[in-house]
Amino acid sequence: MLMILFITLFVRMMTTADPATDVRYAVRELPYGYGALAPVLSEETMRFHHDKHYAGYLARLEELLIDSPLAGQPLEDIVLAADGALFNNAAQAWNHELYFEQLSPQPVRAPSAELAAAIERDFGSLDALCTQMNRAAAGLFGSGWVWLAADREGRLAIFAEANAGNPILRGWTPLLGIDVWEHAYYIDYRNRRADAVAALWSVVDWQTVSHRYARRR
Ligand code: MN
Repeated sequence: MLMILFITLFVRMMTTADPATDVRYAVRELPYGYGALAPVLSEETMRFHHDKHYAGYLARLEELLIDSPLAGQPLEDIVLAADGALFNNAAQAWNHELYFEQLSPQPVRAPSAELAAAIERDFGSLDALCTQMNRAAAGLFGSGWVWLAADREGRLAIFAEANAGNPILRGWTPLLGIDVWEHAYYIDYRNRRADAVAALWSVVDWQTVSHRYARRR
C-alpha cells in the first residue's frame, strides 16, 4: 500500500513538473572555503553573504521567472532585458557570482601586462586606481556596487552604481566589483565601510580580473 502511494507520488511529480518552475540557476559554490578569506572576511560573513544573500537572490529570481517570457534565458540576458524586481534579483545574483569568483585566499597580486598597461594609461598606477575605487565606495550613498569596467577598445573606467547596478547595461565589461551593501561587511567591520573596502584589496585575485579584461566584449 505504502509502495503504491510512493509510486503514485513519484509519477505525479514527474508528470506535473513545469519547466518554468525547474531550478535553472543553481547556486555556484564558493571556489574556496567559507573561512578561507579570514581575517579580511570572516567565515560568518561569507556564510551569510553566500548562503543567505546570494542564494536568496537566486531563489527569488526562480519565483519571479515563473510564467515570465524570460524563463530559461541565460542569467546575463535576463539582467540586460529585465526591469523592476526581476532585474534586481537577476543582477544581484550575477553581480555576486563575479564578486565571489574574483576573490582568493592565494591571490595573484599583479594584473597581467596588458591590464597593467591599461591601468597605468587610464589611472596612472594600480595604487591610484585602488584609491579612486576606495573613494567611490566611500562616497556611494546607500547600497550599491563600485565597478572597474572596460569598453570594447580596452579603455577602463570606474562606475559607482546604486543597488544592483551593473556596467553591462552601459555596454561595458565588468572586471572587478566591490559590493558596498552593508551585508557585505557589517558583521566584521560594522559601519566602517572604508576599512572593509581597503582590506578587500589583499584578497583580490588580479589573475581573474585580468582574464575578464582579456575576454571583454
Ligand atoms: Mn552582497
